[in-house]
Amino acid sequence: MGDELNTTTQEKKKTQLKGMTLDELKNFFTSIGKPRFRGEQIFNWMYNHLVSDYDDMSNVPKVLRNELKEITELKALEYHSSEVSPITGTKKYIFQTPDNLKIESVVIPEDKRTTLCISTQVGCPLDCAFCATGVMGYKRNLTAGEIFDQYLLAAKEYGKDVITNIVYMGMGEPLLNYNNTMKSVRIFAEELTTGISQKKVTISTAGIAPKIRELAESNIKIKLAFSLHSCFEDIRSKIMPINNKYSLKQNIEALKYYAKRTGMRITFEYVMLKGINDRDEDATALIGLCSEMPSKVNIIPFNSLKHIEPTGLAGEIEPTPIQKIDEFVDKLREKNITVMIRDTQGEDIVAACGQLAYKLN
Ligand code: SAH
Repeated sequence: MGDELNTTTQEKKKTQLKGMTLDELKNFFTSIGKPRFRGEQIFNWMYNHLVSDYDDMSNVPKVLRNELKEITELKALEYHSSEVSPITGTKKYIFQTPDNLKIESVVIPEDKRTTLCISTQVGCPLDCAFCATGVMGYKRNLTAGEIFDQYLLAAKEYGKDVITNIVYMGMGEPLLNYNNTMKSVRIFAEELTTGISQKKVTISTAGIAPKIRELAESNIKIKLAFSLHSCFEDIRSKIMPINNKYSLKQNIEALKYYAKRTGMRITFEYVMLKGINDRDEDATALIGLCSEMPSKVNIIPFNSLKHIEPTGLAGEIEPTPIQKIDEFVDKLREKNITVMIRDTQGEDIVAACGQLAYKLN
């Protein structure tokens, strides 16, 4: 009987501290009868000094360290494997969650910055026809600790000062995991955090209109990218089934609201899909949409999904040829629209963080 009780006590779930904001950490220490400044110390060790072992926390008394080891957890993800593109230096990490699921993060070195692309869900429920993550299905939301740990693990290897930009463009739909995603963003924005400023953080969404509004009303000012991919409701619904739930019209209103409230321009992401969204009328419609709000366009060459042999529409989608992409871009530029063409860096290693590589400003 006594033994059974002991086992139960030992198996009591430890409190995960990684992923807590500064306030949450301070409150945690209050809840266990310790001074609040311990919260600041742990915050600094975890997020600024990239430490995830209590024994490395020199200003925390040994007795307290031992107590914390018993009741808390500091590790969220484990390194599993990685692959580096010999051509571009793009590095894809596979990290493993405590329940043995795999997620991806990608580090993309560019001239003047290094961008880290992070995941917010294991798999994705949205099932966009052109996306590898969709084909793989949906497992679960990541915790705030698992989201933030992708940064901490990459920063540990590259150095905090090297990673300059964060894009929430990996596996999953960030706005469907709103609370955990925002908690991780808040840690970047916290007064004690050194390193990444809010302006260097971008969230990309397939369009969850009510959450775009909620984000606009939060006091967090980050960049918002919208996966547009077609300006026509019927075509967009075909390639992005979420459009049946939150229409383009609803999303456009929400994006205008976001731009107005935050004073920031919206990035329209546009994956070039042959015969689907690369026609003259698509360019004309896109030009029209850009005139409705402060915005810019990121043109993304489609990374083929052939390697995963998808069925249905996904199996039929082809990339728009480069020359045609250039013509499409010229049409937009003639109307003074700011357009970037994203590099297909990392294609050689299938940087399948949503299968991407980026050139976000
Ligand atoms: N769910 C979010 C973020 C993840 S995807 C969103 O939809 O925005 C990040 C970006 O990669 C999106 O613009 C997405 O449409 C794009 N993408 C997905 N699959 C792609 C592929 N095979 N080739 C090029 N871009 C792709």
